[in-house]
Amino acid sequence: MQYCTSCAFPAVAATPLTFNAAGVCSGCRATESKRAIDWSTRRELFRKLVDEYRNDSGYDCLLPVSGGKDSYFAAHVAKEFGLKALMVTYHGNNYLPEGERNLLRMKDEFNFDHIIFRPSTDVLIRLNRLGFTKTGDMNWHCHAGIFTYPMQLAIRFRIPLAFWGDHGFTEQGGMYSHNDFFEYTAKDRYEHALHGYDWPDFVEESENLSAKDMQFLMYPSDDQILDVGLRGIFLSNYFYYDGTVHADIALKNYHWEAAEQDFDRTFRRTSNLDDMHENGVHDYLKFIKFGYGRGTDHANYEIREGRMTRKTGIAMVRKYDHVKPRDLQRWLCYVGMSEDEFDALADEFRDKRVWRIVDGQWVKDNIWGGESAYGPVKGLPAWAK
Ligand SMILES: [Zn+2]
Repeated sequence: MQYCTSCAFPAVAATPLTFNAAGVCSGCRATESKRAIDWSTRRELFRKLVDEYRNDSGYDCLLPVSGGKDSYFAAHVAKEFGLKALMVTYHGNNYLPEGERNLLRMKDEFNFDHIIFRPSTDVLIRLNRLGFTKTGDMNWHCHAGIFTYPMQLAIRFRIPLAFWGDHGFTEQGGMYSHNDFFEYTAKDRYEHALHGYDWPDFVEESENLSAKDMQFLMYPSDDQILDVGLRGIFLSNYFYYDGTVHADIALKNYHWEAAEQDFDRTFRRTSNLDDMHENGVHDYLKFIKFGYGRGTDHANYEIREGRMTRKTGIAMVRKYDHVKPRDLQRWLCYVGMSEDEFDALADEFRDKRVWRIVDGQWVKDNIWGGESAYGPVKGLPAWAK
């Protein structure tokens, strides 16, 4: 396995990467080119853009928010530029208490109206189970809900401008340049956020899920988007985007709370408080699939910003990436599944480029050199059958 010589990313990553002759990944190079941008000019471009959308009778912009540090940053920006924003939340039912308090506090801290949509728990449990068995991601419904429901409301309230935070594939993997001013589209939603699945893939008799249960996952039509003139811009094209800095802004100015307890799979306590499994079993499945997890992702952010050495980053990868988290038991109970069933199904998603079977164990290469065994084989992916 090839690893970036600058950060800790492996060549087989959830966000596609390329390497230059020196072995530096496209994500690290995107961070380098970010530093060359004149961000005060970008701020003025942003001002010009939002000035075109100010209006006397309706909302100036829509903010899809989870209550996280980046949501607070988006609301902070909207407030600073004097915009009347409507905040919209897709609530996936598994918030940490700190995350829930952060979410509910936003309407008071920013004086914006806030709509929170909560699907029925029964439908969410069925979507969790099906997301896992079908795509290897129990939180597929979260990605789908977050990237769909706010746009439905943008159409309903006729708000032509929505602010997204960063484009993950660009910030982590360098998919686009910040000079492209990439915007949110139905294609981006389907291919990146939803991993190439959409709600019809979840109409499933065995789970008793019908189209009627998933109206909140149905993306507006092209005609509706054209009629409202709806655009989704990424703030990361206009402001230097750094989640650690955003957490500081939220903590210092808006009574925002980080997680009270350490997570099992990352050193960061400021990410993904909107879902107790996002840093836990959801991320453990990323390790099963790709051989790395948030230990790597979060170390990379810090390495690229110069706040962590690559050596310390690799120590974080070694400490966190393989850990089977404690919240697995809660999730199994939530959806009614046994741990053996979970392990066997999870094994079916192992990537051939990462994993091999040696003496009944799953084995892979390590960034710190050599190979290790990471537990017994319980299920087989198609390539191993
Ligand atoms: Zn890199």
